Amino acid sequence: MKKKVTIVGTGLGALSSGLLLLKNGYEVVFLEKNLQPGGRLNQIKKDGFTFDMGPSFFSMSYVFTDFLKKCGVEMPFRFVELDPLYSVHFGGGGRTFHLYKDIKKLAEQFRDIEPQFEAKMERYLAKSGALFHDTFDIVIRNNFDNYLDYFITLMKVNPVHIPVLMKMFWQHVEAYFDSHEARQIVSLVAFFLGRTPFDTMAIYSLLSYTEFRHDGYHNVEGGMYNIVKGMVGELEKRGATFRYGTEITEVEADGDRLTMVIDKEGNNYISDIFLINADAALFRGRVLKRKKFSEANLRKMEWTMGYLTFYVGVDMKLPDLNLHNYYLGSNFEEYAHNVLRNPDSLQKPYYYVNAVSKHNPGCAPEGCESLFFVCPVPSLQYKSDWSDRDEIVDSILADFSHRIGVDLMPHIVTKTIHTPLEWEKNFNLYKGSGLGLSHKLSQIGGLRPKNFDEQYRNLYYVGASTTPGAGLPMAVISAEMVCERILKA
Ligand SMILES: Cc1cc2nc3c(=O)[nH]c(=O)nc-3n(C[C@H](O)[C@H](O)[C@H](O)COP(=O)(O)OP(=O)(O)OC[C@H]3O[C@@H](n4cnc5c(N)ncnc54)[C@H](O)[C@@H]3O)c2cc1C
Repeated sequence: MKKKVTIVGTGLGALSSGLLLLKNGYEVVFLEKNLQPGGRLNQIKKDGFTFDMGPSFFSMSYVFTDFLKKCGVEMPFRFVELDPLYSVHFGGGGRTFHLYKDIKKLAEQFRDIEPQFEAKMERYLAKSGALFHDTFDIVIRNNFDNYLDYFITLMKVNPVHIPVLMKMFWQHVEAYFDSHEARQIVSLVAFFLGRTPFDTMAIYSLLSYTEFRHDGYHNVEGGMYNIVKGMVGELEKRGATFRYGTEITEVEADGDRLTMVIDKEGNNYISDIFLINADAALFRGRVLKRKKFSEANLRKMEWTMGYLTFYVGVDMKLPDLNLHNYYLGSNFEEYAHNVLRNPDSLQKPYYYVNAVSKHNPGCAPEGCESLFFVCPVPSLQYKSDWSDRDEIVDSILADFSHRIGVDLMPHIVTKTIHTPLEWEKNFNLYKGSGLGLSHKLSQIGGLRPKNFDEQYRNLYYVGASTTPGAGLPMAVISAEMVCERILKA
């Protein structure tokens, strides 16, 4: 008889695990608290407009292609490569930069502000590439059984990288570039990990290599949610079942085995194996009631920032707007030092705008544009009252209108706002922290909440707060890593 795996959650980590487990002969059942699959990789459809709810692009597209091949699945969605990767607009009369993967073309924009930009960038990317190749397979994509195993593996990393381990991203970038613009643009990628260049380890400058050299950024034809639709279609074809509106709040065990998970309504689900895609730290604390993950201890852990996201449909075309845009102010260091904790940073917010309808006309009615705004904000740990959300959103829309030279206000046909309160409620994210646990030294690799349970030997975890960490390719790698454990058990 087939072994049954019950997967709690339908985020990308869960869906990927399901495909690999089905391929290996398991029966797969999903239990999801929401009424539609995808977790943070989700979609909003309203008033004729379609918006990506969270992720709007990703690196390392080959992780998806290789993984789906391994599962015996023909690509159920199509990638679109981005070039420029994105555009960065500086405030206070500052310039706009387009981040081309072609370094010569990129360098032309820095000619008058950063002498020898091309040579500096090549040197910086050579180091980022070395960091990537010397750590990715042995540290990031590796299952550690215990601390000793982890520390022994760390010793295998080329010692030439030790100085980078001791530095923050910003310090590292400062050593390569002199101008504010180059430093800010190159270190912006630290924000993609949910923190800032001032408190993200320099080792993550390996992300610059994945951006510019390795594989760039991609999004998906028709919108990012086609990843979820495609994967769910394949899962259903292969016999997986989905039960929505089912939030797991309790468990029952017999000795060292979990016997069932129980939902809010008291329904129970028996299985041979359980795989949790809910946050790996939060589930241990709130559902399993583990002391190490008690409320007091969860508070002491370091979490990523919150996001204020809003989804705006306008009844006009914005031909001069690029697909992915970052709008920065003119006080980067002050802003970055405040954004995680100080709600005052919202008086001059930095934000990202994605115009999904640029590449996907089906995402907006004819002659209209779908705009998705993401503004980094303090999580609910530092700002729990969001009664000022409309004011903040209006100030961003006014700033954006000013920067693009078009008053958008009279053109808005639909607007949906998600503060960290909605992100917390919808997906059980700790204090609305957008990317889960941060990637500080004591929360990565063998020190991150493990993908196997400390007590129950048939309980596993997949997703952003277990190994390896946040982001779409990491969710797929997390699935590969946990399935390796399940298949070996
Ligand atoms: C605003 C935003 C923008 C982002 N942009 C990008 C981007 O551009 N590129 C990128 O690579 N990454 C991006 N990310 C990060 C990316 O979305 C996540 O890292 C990834 O989607 C996490 O997947 P996961 O497998 O951890 O599952 P999640 O998406 O966290 O899904 C977990 C699922 O479990 C369900 N669940 C939770 N608790 C329970 C329970 N008790 N019972 C039943 N179900 C439960 C939830 O409802 C959810 O469906 C972004 C994130 C946010 C918030």
